[in-house]
This record gives sequence, structure tokens and C-alpha cells, in this order.
Amino acid sequence: MLLLKKTGDLRQYLDKKMKEGLSIGFVPTMGALHKGHISLIESSKKDNSITVCSLFVNPKQFNDPKDFEKYPVTIEKDIYLLESAGCDVLFIPSVEEIYPEGNTQQKKYDLGYLETIFEGKYRPGHFQGVCMVMHRLLEIVKPHNLYLGQKDYQQCMVIKKLIELENLKINVVIGNTLRENDGLAMSSRNMRLNEPERKQAVKISETLSFIKKEIKPGYIGDLKERALQYLTAENFKVDYAEIATADTLRILENWDGKQPVVALVAAYLNEVRLIDNMLLN
Ligand code: AMP
Repeated sequence: MLLLKKTGDLRQYLDKKMKEGLSIGFVPTMGALHKGHISLIESSKKDNSITVCSLFVNPKQFNDPKDFEKYPVTIEKDIYLLESAGCDVLFIPSVEEIYPEGNTQQKKYDLGYLETIFEGKYRPGHFQGVCMVMHRLLEIVKPHNLYLGQKDYQQCMVIKKLIELENLKINVVIGNTLRENDGLAMSSRNMRLNEPERKQAVKISETLSFIKKEIKPGYIGDLKERALQYLTAENFKVDYAEIATADTLRILENWDGKQPVVALVAAYLNEVRLIDNMLLN
């Protein structure tokens, strides 16, 4: 595996591969890798000749500076995992490499409704930061195929919107959420949970499974309320426990039994904020 830190070096390598007609798959990450990330690398390897993974903890998408400071960093293990998975190139840029102009030039991405709900509402500025880094990374890597995880459901929609807004010709492939044996969605943030918190954390995916089992056509407000009350009683500080249309993320109070729907939860366990989601039909 090639390990590159400079944009120029990466471009030189990829230009050569593209001239040879090879397809490029790209898996952007913030490191602290787990099997969920690796599953995206594996998908990319199946579809492309060259798989590029980036590892960059983007300061601009952390609305909470404490969350940024405490974001886990496990670079040596990440390199080992990527190399074992057969990743071709690992790009680890510095902040200056990604944002050479510093803090000044902030473009506003018109994400519309998507930015007003769920993660957009509870993490102001977060999706602008995501778009900023993704736009930059996509310009640098110029992949044919981009691999994202359903774990970050709304982020997938935001990045698709960014690709549309910027007229980029990139195909997006969304990978299933990989889970621990008890159902907890794999996440870099799980490393920050202590033992009792780790046991407690599974209640988020249990709540999503409960919603999936119980949802019936008609009024669904009471089901959402039960989910919220359960998590609150279990000591979560819940940002949202909602059911929304799977394609547009409109919050639903009534369901016709046919429309594709997704349940989404974001909740704090003490200091650690966890998110998860499940398609319900
Ligand atoms: P992150 O490093 O958390 O920014 O995640 C990098 C990519 O991995 C994103 O596209 C995530 O949606 C995806 N990802 C994170 N957790 C999982 C998971 N448990 N299963 C599959 N993909 C995931």
C-alpha cells in the first residue's frame, strides 16, 4: 500500500492510473478504523482497479471542539487494517494540505431542507464542514466510485446533494451498517465508551429494531414517543428518535404502510454522542 501525504504525489500516481484506463474507488474516513470501514474498502476493491482511502479528521465538521479533541486516533492500527484489506493507496493529508487558504474562504453549500433537520439541526454547521472537506477530497481524488456507509444516513444524502450541486460525475455506492454481535452499530466513537456505557449503548439499536417490529400503518406518533421515553428512562440524552421518509427525510406522524421509511436515533450516553438508523420496510 502506498502511503501519501501530499496532494501532488497522489495526483501524479492517479493521473498515471487513469491514463491506463483504470477505475478509481474512494473511501473517505476519519480514521480509528473498524470492520465497517473495511467493508467499504472491500466493496471498492470488488468494483475498481485502484482503491484509495483517505484518513483526515476534519476540524471543520466538529461543531463541538471537545468532540474534535477527543476523537480517537489509531493510525498504526489503521495502516495495518488497510494493508491487510488490500487497500492500494492511503492518503493522510495535513490540515494545510486540505485547507491551504486557511479559514477565510468559506463557500456556502445550498443543502436546503436537509440541513434543517436531524444532524443538521443538532449539529449546526456540521454538514457545511462535511461538504467542504468532501468537495476538496473529491477534487483531489477524482474517483469514479465513492463508497459511503448507511450508518451516516443523512450524510449520504448530503454528499449526493453536493455531487449534484457541483455537477461531479461520481457514482455513489452505499454500504450496509456493520454491527457488533449484540447489534451496536460499529463506530469510532464506541472506543470512548466505558464498560457500563458499552453495555448500555446497544439499547439504541434495540430501540430501532423495536420500532421496525412494531410499526403499523396509521398514526405512528405514539410509537416514536415510546422509543423516546424508553431511551430517556435508560439514561440517554436523546436529540431525536424519529421516523421519516427514506428518500427525503420528511418526518412522519402517519404512515400509509407502503412508503419507504427509516427510523433514526441520535443520543448521548454521558459525553459520547451516538447515531444509528434502520430502514423499516
Ligand atoms: P467516519 O470515519 O466515521 O467518518 O466514517 C467513514 C465512512 O465509513 C463513512 O462513509 C461512514 O458512513 C462509514 N461507516 C462508519 N461506520 C460504519 C459502519 N458501522 N458500517 C459501515 N460503514 C460505516
